[in-house]
Amino acid sequence: MTKLRPLASHLKSKLKLTESSATSTASPTPTPYYLFNATNNRIRDEIHFATSSDVTQAINDASSAQEQWCRNYTPSQRAQIIQNASSILARRSDEITQQEVKDTARAKSEIKGYDVPSAVRHLSYYANMPSILSNGTYHDIGHSPSFAYVKREPIGVTAGIGAWNYPLMNAVAKSAPALSFGNAMLFKPSELTPNSALILAQIYEEAGVPPGVFQVLLGDGSIGSELVKSPVVSKVSFTGSVETGIKLRQAQAASTCTSTNFQKMTLELGGKSPLIIMDDANLDEAVTGAMQANWYSNGQVCSNGTRVFVHEYLKEEFLEKLVERTKLLKIGDPMQEDTVIGPMVSENHMNKVLDYIDIGKNVDKAHLFYGGERVGGCLEHGFYLTPAIFTDCNDQMRIVQEEVFGMLMSVLTFQDEEEVLSRANATNFGLAAGIFTNDIKRAHRMASYLKAGTVWINNYNLGPVELPWGGCKHSGVGRENGSYDAAFEWTVSKSVYVEMNSL
Ligand code: NDP
Repeated sequence: MTKLRPLASHLKSKLKLTESSATSTASPTPTPYYLFNATNNRIRDEIHFATSSDVTQAINDASSAQEQWCRNYTPSQRAQIIQNASSILARRSDEITQQEVKDTARAKSEIKGYDVPSAVRHLSYYANMPSILSNGTYHDIGHSPSFAYVKREPIGVTAGIGAWNYPLMNAVAKSAPALSFGNAMLFKPSELTPNSALILAQIYEEAGVPPGVFQVLLGDGSIGSELVKSPVVSKVSFTGSVETGIKLRQAQAASTCTSTNFQKMTLELGGKSPLIIMDDANLDEAVTGAMQANWYSNGQVCSNGTRVFVHEYLKEEFLEKLVERTKLLKIGDPMQEDTVIGPMVSENHMNKVLDYIDIGKNVDKAHLFYGGERVGGCLEHGFYLTPAIFTDCNDQMRIVQEEVFGMLMSVLTFQDEEEVLSRANATNFGLAAGIFTNDIKRAHRMASYLKAGTVWINNYNLGPVELPWGGCKHSGVGRENGSYDAAFEWTVSKSVYVEMNSL
């Protein structure tokens, strides 16, 4: 069992690990919070939440540190530091991979192959961006020689709140642009997955980020809530469920009345995305796409294409190939290199997914075509499930409408393009969508009709840093990643009018 508290004393100002109760009130007898190993349900880590006074102190520290970070460092000096962080993260990739696998229970092959290299690239990508994008723009305003210019300035103290499925990526995707553009960030990881954010804090320090500019606050939702209510925190970037996103908006609205600030807020929320397989699709590739869209990260992906619309002509062949290939995926210890599917992140979450499988069978009366069981044998103590494929589904079923966040695929059939587009859009979510077709005109036509932040054509679940990421409808507001989108999200513009004529 690892104790997270005994960290190097020079990190104390960044890593708020002061003992307290889980409710954030100071307590003479500190209550530790235990993390469980998802492969065997044994305690693996003990963490201590930050207290309310830690949060206040962290916000004050961030406020003065941000002024220094923004005024005393040029964009190119900040760029060098963030670039250093990228190199250090690459050097520490094995260690961070190990921790991320322990926290998330996702397969090592995924984290090593995708999360860690993506985090390295994110830092590198944003390092120089402020020098390129935020120099401001000159405007000829028609009263020569008078002119105007627009500066893009840092927002100030920002907060990042992360979910548990991609904790490293959440922390990096928020902090890399935030810090590069001159902001400070207080980051609260999910209480289930604190380790990668703590390592990231060490990396930033080693890279040269001054104390206070990036701080990690461990705790439950109440810590996140305190950050949202703070009048000093000028932007919150949140990744999590729709329910919590709505709570954040409510807390923000309530605290705006007593604050001097209208806080910016980005919400990266859940989804129930459609994956459409047209009758002219390459079926083998479409099956690959459906598996990527449903089984990747043990099904715990916000953008998963869990509503799989297959053209009725292809249904039988699609299901045959899908089951044949799904059976081959190795379920097991996520630390083993050849494991594809690990356990669910926690017992609670496993039970939520099992409940939905039960709803699919007994309430919705869909047909459980494959899987959907807890794995026994030598894996019986872990939170392992087999992927579930439901057929005979309709658009009104709960398993088709609600986000499950686990390996539960609903297969639906359709006859033509117009029908499938209107059914694909008939949801409160709008995070992502996928289309498999070999007809190029049809592909672009369909992409333009789909109400989603990202549409993949002939692939699924790719998220390069260059592309803005975010949702519409209940899937959220604002964007992460991208270049101009990041500049708009992490800076504010200031227009300066310069009068050169006599008045
Ligand atoms: P939650 O909404 O439960 O939690 C997200 C974060 O918010 C956690 O750090 C949580 O803390 C914190 N939190 C909880 N309550 C509050 C509150 N009242 N105020 C402030 N912060 C709070 O989501 P999950 O962690 O369960 O993540 C799964 C969800 O995230 C899914 O819906 C998924 O679709 C979505 N998601 C969206 C992504 C996107 O890019 N759109 C990407 C990844 C996930 P704690 O965990 O300690 O309770």
